[in-house]
Amino acid sequence: MLKGKNAVVTGAAKGIGKAIALAFAREGCNIVLNYHSTAPDDTIQEIEALGVQCLPVQGDVSDFEFAESMLKQAKKELGSVDILVNNAGITRDMLLMRMSEEDFDAVIATNLKGTFNMVRHVSSLMLKQRSGTIINMASVVGVMGNAGQANYAASKAGIIGLTKSVAKELAPRGITCNAIAPGFVETDMTEVLTEEQKKKMLEVIPLKRYAQVEDIANVAVFLAGNTYITGQVINVDGGMVM
Ligand code: NAP
Repeated sequence: MLKGKNAVVTGAAKGIGKAIALAFAREGCNIVLNYHSTAPDDTIQEIEALGVQCLPVQGDVSDFEFAESMLKQAKKELGSVDILVNNAGITRDMLLMRMSEEDFDAVIATNLKGTFNMVRHVSSLMLKQRSGTIINMASVVGVMGNAGQANYAASKAGIIGLTKSVAKELAPRGITCNAIAPGFVETDMTEVLTEEQKKKMLEVIPLKRYAQVEDIANVAVFLAGNTYITGQVINVDGGMVM
């Protein structure tokens, strides 16, 4: 389904984004690999070794102009943007009473506004093509809330509202937009949690294991290849939220 398609994946240097980029490449999809700080040279080589093109683009998705320029570059060099995965995300966890304005703004800027920036600019490309699929990375905490993550949960709940609105607006042109809501995935983002916090998480996961990045990537491959699911939030959380 993805052979010969072109996908933009944000925040793809590591973790879930890297797994999605590699899974798409294994399906024969060319990758525009957005990274923020350090170029992931090994991942770029691994993608190219799969026989597809990899276009690495450094930049910050919270920057409206950068989002536009990356998508223009993708269109110019690959011819089209068929799939967009808004994966880039950060946490700045703190209880509400001690959360700084800066930490609230930073999380909203990267997670929610970054997703808006990319969706806003890809929509003009996809509307002209009359095809395309957008996958936004939400989180189960955007559905259920989480103490200590008011900024992050608000950003992810915002992504869910954005996803459903975009799905409705772009559906008449055959463009789909869905969100994946992972539970607890073993990546650098969750590595910072204490053993106590991790143990507590496991207790509320019916499948009694944390997700691996491939669990999320498999769902992204499924959604990227679909043309009749839109406006949905797929929880990939071992049964945490039912
Ligand atoms: P991760 O390992 O920390 O990776 C996040 C990636 O996003 C990094 O490569 C990071 O690059 C990049 N990034 C951060 N700010 C960026 C910006 N402004 N512009 C472009 N890229 C930026 O996190 P992850 O666990 O793979 O998470 C990926 C996505 O899944 C996030 O949206 C996260 O909220 C979501 N999620 C994760 C979990 C989980 O349990 N891990 C659960 C639910 C949802 P730098 O490091 O160079 O800044």
